[in-house]
Amino acid sequence: MKKTFAIIGLGRFGGSMCETLIDADQEVLVIDSDEERINEYMNIATHAMIANASEENTLKSIGMRNFDCVVVAIGEDVQASIMVSLMLVDLGVKYIVAKAKNKNHARILEKIGVQKVVHPERDMGVRTAKELATNNVHEFIEITPDLSFAQIHIVNKKLVNRTLDELQIRQKYRLNVVGVKHGDAEFEWPEGTTIVRPDDFLYVAGRNNDIERFDDEVNK
Ligand code: ATP
Repeated sequence: MKKTFAIIGLGRFGGSMCETLIDADQEVLVIDSDEERINEYMNIATHAMIANASEENTLKSIGMRNFDCVVVAIGEDVQASIMVSLMLVDLGVKYIVAKAKNKNHARILEKIGVQKVVHPERDMGVRTAKELATNNVHEFIEITPDLSFAQIHIVNKKLVNRTLDELQIRQKYRLNVVGVKHGDAEFEWPEGTTIVRPDDFLYVAGRNNDIERFDDEVNK
C-alpha cells in the first residue's frame, strides 16, 4: 500500500531517503529552504516545496498531520532540527523520524517524543569498525545494541563439507543461520541437510558476542 511521506531537508540523508522511497513507489513531499536543492529533486519527488520549516505556520499550512511519516533530515542546524521536531509532535504527526548529529541531540529528540531517532554517521562508524575488528565477518548490521545480523565467510576446514545439522551452529554457538551463499550463486534458504562448502558465506542472526566468539574461536 502507498504511504505518504514528507522529508524536511535534502542533504545526503534526506535526498537518499527521497530517492529510495520513490523507487519503492511511495508518495513523497520534499521541503527545503534552499531553492537549488528543490530544483534538484523537483522531478524526482512527488511534490517539492521551498519553505523554511522552522516557521510554525508553514508546517500547519502544509497539513503535516495528514502524512503517514515525516522525516526531519536537518543535521547541522541542531536548533532548527529540535524546533521542527517539537512542532511536528505538537501538531500530532503520527510517526516522526529525525536524524541526530550527536548523542545530546539524540537524547533531546527522544525526550520530545520523536518515534525514531537515527544516527547515520555513528551507526556506519560502528558497523565498519566491527567488520574491521573481526577476521571473517563481512557485514555486521546491528538490529538492537546486542543483536546483529552478520555475513560470515567460512574459512575453517573443519566447518566445511558438513551439513548444518552436523555443525549444530544454533545449539553450540547460539547463532541462527538464515541463509547460505555458495560463491556467486544466489543465497539459499538453509535446511538441516544444506552442506557448507569451502568459501561459503553464512548469513547469521545472533548476539554480538556469539558472532565474535564464532569468528574468533571457531572460524579461523
Ligand atoms: P547530510 O549529512 O544529510 O548531507 P546535513 O546533516 O549536513 O546533511 P544540513 O546540510 O544542515 O544537514 O541540512 C540538510 C538540508 O536541510 C539542507 O539542504 C538545508 O537547506 C535544509 N534545511 C536546513 N534547515 C532548514 C529549515 N529550517 N527548513 C527547511 N530546510 C532546511
